[in-house]
Amino acid sequence: MKRYLALFITALLLTPVAARAQGKLNVMTTTEDLASIAREIGGDHITVEGIAKGYQDPHFVEAKPSFILKLQKADVLVVVGRELEIGWLPPLIQQSRNSKIQPGSAGYIDASLQATILEVPTGQVTRAMGDVHPLGNPHYWMDPENGKRIGKEIADKLSELRQNDKAYFAQRLADFTTRLDAAEKRWLAQLAPYKGTKVVTYHRSFPNFAERFGLDIIGYVEPKPGIPPSPQHTLDLINDMKRQNVKVMLIEPYFDLKTPNAIGRDTGAQVLVMPPSVGGVKEITDYFKLFDYDINLLVEAIKKTGAK
Ligand SMILES: [Zn+2]
Repeated sequence: MKRYLALFITALLLTPVAARAQGKLNVMTTTEDLASIAREIGGDHITVEGIAKGYQDPHFVEAKPSFILKLQKADVLVVVGRELEIGWLPPLIQQSRNSKIQPGSAGYIDASLQATILEVPTGQVTRAMGDVHPLGNPHYWMDPENGKRIGKEIADKLSELRQNDKAYFAQRLADFTTRLDAAEKRWLAQLAPYKGTKVVTYHRSFPNFAERFGLDIIGYVEPKPGIPPSPQHTLDLINDMKRQNVKVMLIEPYFDLKTPNAIGRDTGAQVLVMPPSVGGVKEITDYFKLFDYDINLLVEAIKKTGAK
């Protein structure tokens, strides 16, 4: 009897607290966008925290030791994938020594798996193509259709980890999808009068957004993804913008405005600081508000400049 009791206590000690009590799953995400969507799906059955802040460039995040401590305690890690986080995340995961969240483990969720990915390179990928998008464009969350697919991926994986909560996650996903469908209709209607408006962006953060909402991105301040502006490229871009009468530039909050402002002065284009992420400015507190904010900003600018 004593031996059984000892075995039982040993088993109890070896079982993680969360699994024993079926307490909340501790979910970490690499970005605030994924945190917002995970919160929609997981509700009060999970705790969620994002690593990169929405006002930071998600390609280049400072790997702080505090992140390792948080990853050590995580049951789940949700990543954007497509190598968005390649520059900073792998050593953090490794140093966490948490077997639950290593790539390939049940607690590792790649949110890109069901998403529509644009700009997937064909043929051989070389450094000449730029530094940061070797597996297609990783900024795919900027299309609400992909937001639904990210939600589905998270719901599927959370359900595998917590089979008793499967119906709960499914219901939350259905509710999220319904609300997102309604919001998307509203956003599409807001931008419908301006279909085909030509814009320039700094980095390739907005191809999914542009495709969904009918913008025409004619060029980028960066010559290649991850490569800073060069004088020749800037000159070519200014000429293209003048020729095509481009009046709006979308600049992610973490880029230096010096070159965009110079281009704006030369071409008469308005420079908009447009966050591609939740948390990019303090008003953008969730995934819905991200589109609300960006679309309002854009519509106001188009009206003001008479851009086409
Ligand atoms: Zn990028």
